[in-house]
Amino acid sequence: MTRKRRTRFAPSPTGLLHLGHVVSALHARKMAGTGGEFLIRIEDIDGTRCIQPHIDALHADLDWLGFQSSECIRQQSQHFSEYQKVLENLKERNLLYPCFCTRSDIERDSVLDAPDGSTVYSGRCRCAGPEGRDRTPVWRLNMARALDVLQEVPDWHEVGQGRIAGRAHEFGDIVLGRRDNGVSYHLCVTHDDALQDITCVTRGRDLYEATSVHRVLQELMGWSEPHYAHHPLVMDENGKKLSKRENAEGVSHLRTNGWSADEVLRHPLVLKAFGE
Ligand code: GLU
Repeated sequence: MTRKRRTRFAPSPTGLLHLGHVVSALHARKMAGTGGEFLIRIEDIDGTRCIQPHIDALHADLDWLGFQSSECIRQQSQHFSEYQKVLENLKERNLLYPCFCTRSDIERDSVLDAPDGSTVYSGRCRCAGPEGRDRTPVWRLNMARALDVLQEVPDWHEVGQGRIAGRAHEFGDIVLGRRDNGVSYHLCVTHDDALQDITCVTRGRDLYEATSVHRVLQELMGWSEPHYAHHPLVMDENGKKLSKRENAEGVSHLRTNGWSADEVLRHPLVLKAFGE
């Protein structure tokens, strides 16, 4: 039996909703198709940047635009203990280690960039015990060990393209438990995609490379594998990615300037992102 199509729009409310989000949400809804389910999830594990006024504005803008979640909206900040359980599981399997390095240690020791542009960690704390360290560690995935367990570098299915070779081995030991809130984006997003039985993950092209890492977590945890459909990003007239701090393409800004919801959904930058 084929699974019911389920997609999600998963914004991080670090700012106000803008046309880039509108494209992401439309993309997810379109990929759900008729008869499929479209879910909204709020990815707000970063309590310093995801403030309540942004979350309230997000709900208001989505309502106004007519985006409705097929299920109750999941808000990640209310589920930290679930993510912690995944971390505990990986720790018990000796796949994580604590890292006490400071940002400057990391910058000094690292020579490589990962496929997503982040710095590849040198591995300095991989063999060192926590003795004598008094700061809270971050928890890193021992990537070589993880790939050893899996016996392969997982690939993924990109809609319209087929299997894409994974590059997890080029990421090094990524952080799965942050110092400030104990968890990480990679961990929470893959956990929730599995929990919510998302069949097709739709999101911007800026997260394309992160898929390699997400596939490793899915395989380690025995979670089902969704398809992926990355869409082009919305660029401003200078060809720059829209920033959450800029308001010109903000949904509430357009709304107060007399745009209707329909006009926002058919804004020239939105249509351009869909190649129309
Ligand atoms: N919450 C992420 C963001 O707003 C998107 C997560 C995802 O779609 O995988 O950038």
